[in-house]
Amino acid sequence: MGLVGRLRAWRRYRRMSARLAELDRHDRKAAPQRNATPLASRPRLISNSVLIYALSFVAIVGLLLYVGSAFPWLAGKPSQQPPAAHLSVPSTATTGPFAFLATTPAGRPVTYDPCHPIHYVVNPAAMPLGAMRVIRDAIRTISTATKLKFIDDGLTQEPPNLTNRPPSQPQRYGQRWAPVLIAWTDQAPYPMVGGDIAGIGGSTTFEPDGPESARYVTGEIALNQADFTQILTRDGGDAEARAIVMHELGHVVGLGHVTDPRELMAPKETGQTALGPGDRQGLATVGAGPCWPDT
Ligand SMILES: [Zn+2]
Repeated sequence: MGLVGRLRAWRRYRRMSARLAELDRHDRKAAPQRNATPLASRPRLISNSVLIYALSFVAIVGLLLYVGSAFPWLAGKPSQQPPAAHLSVPSTATTGPFAFLATTPAGRPVTYDPCHPIHYVVNPAAMPLGAMRVIRDAIRTISTATKLKFIDDGLTQEPPNLTNRPPSQPQRYGQRWAPVLIAWTDQAPYPMVGGDIAGIGGSTTFEPDGPESARYVTGEIALNQADFTQILTRDGGDAEARAIVMHELGHVVGLGHVTDPRELMAPKETGQTALGPGDRQGLATVGAGPCWPDT
């Protein structure tokens, strides 16, 4: 459907809702202070809000979700800086837990349309050195796991907009859905991403024919510039940074948090930097959603 048709569809009904869920939080206070340097290891702390989210889904559907501001955080287990050899050891398990950020009333997970590629752009403003490589690596891994095709549309000057990002921006991107935006921010413009918040990721739902027609059409990741700068400066930082971007991409394609520490979608970092078995199952599931002729 062309833009005109889509705009008509919006007028006919239809609901767009952004699901920028799951603020992902670092907790510097809980980090072991074995080194005097501020680059000492510290955990990634992520909200354990999936159960609450699931229980309250009916009540909050359609809202812009900043669940992190509404629910208490659990303390993270301090990272132990495992030897590099441990970072890439895959789990031998083939099954594990996964969760969806949103499901339709009939229970289908909301996903991207696998028959259309997911375009993405990166805003390089305030991007830490080395971060582009990390983003590309993370996208490659998530693309492989989901079988969703990602297309790099290059750089953008679009600033992060965590509250009201237009899903279509014809002047900037042409007559199509805006690409997924990956941007860097800090506490000044967006208090929700900065300080000990590592990032936020999510996607916008388009429901041209009611809730059962829900699919994601664009998304956004905002990453904490200061945190990534620190992470990427230290040895082994690439793997940790990549894991955070993969976690946020997991949210973009529709996964929520799980509590199993083997999973990247877990609420606590345990030194795990590769996809766990549940991550892989979940990513394969959200990559196998329905195709929509009217996306
Ligand atoms: Zn998260």
